[in-house]
Amino acid sequence: MLTNRIINIIALITLVALLTIHYFVEIWWGWYIVIVLIFVTVKIYGSTHLSANFFVQSKCKGTTGIAITFDDGPIAEKTDRILNILQKHQTKATFFCIGSRVIAHPQLVEKIHKHGHLIGNHSYLHGKGFDLQPSAFMQQEIQLTDAAIEKVVGIRPRFFRPPFGVMNPALAKAITTTHHTTVGWSIRSFDTLIKKEEKLFNRVTKNLKAGDIILFHDYSETTIAILPRVIKHIEEIGLKIVSLEELLNENAYV
Ligand SMILES: [Zn+2]
Repeated sequence: MLTNRIINIIALITLVALLTIHYFVEIWWGWYIVIVLIFVTVKIYGSTHLSANFFVQSKCKGTTGIAITFDDGPIAEKTDRILNILQKHQTKATFFCIGSRVIAHPQLVEKIHKHGHLIGNHSYLHGKGFDLQPSAFMQQEIQLTDAAIEKVVGIRPRFFRPPFGVMNPALAKAITTTHHTTVGWSIRSFDTLIKKEEKLFNRVTKNLKAGDIILFHDYSETTIAILPRVIKHIEEIGLKIVSLEELLNENAYV
């Protein structure tokens, strides 16, 4: 919240200074709009860039290894195929699961856990209006998802990834209350939009370096298609795929 507070203070001081100057001399009224526009732009940037640590501290990178993460599952006919690929290549990943989908597919969550992968919290419904909800609603979504995961595998996640990667004061408050660690990414695959395998492979691998966290989605057929190549490529360039726990040096469960 520190960055957000600093921006609020700077905006307030600037506005008061402008009003004071305006009291003594005539100034262009557009300066007020310029200040508001800068303020809004900075806020939007802070909300959409977790690594800016604008509202809450987020972990988006480590120092060694590469961590692979999948959001929005578990999904029938998809997550299972990802698990098979990971097993074939003896690779571990983290699945940020949606609570309602955990309830719908407990057997997949069990399989994720049994195969040695980590499970994180990715809200209960992942609704489009999530970021407009009050803090208490968000807190409830996070806690319901924790409970759903705990019911299936007996462990409570510490890692939370915000739906759509968006942060705001209400969500920051909810996360602070539930004591989760916010986890972002450093390589966003955009596999929800990119349908061409070559394009997706190049986007994910072109700037890959030690400490990166890759963001994929369970439901992307393109991701499923390129996953074996991505795993091989990481090995070929001398990097090691590690668990998110190892990469962040933090326990995934409470
Ligand atoms: Zn998501």
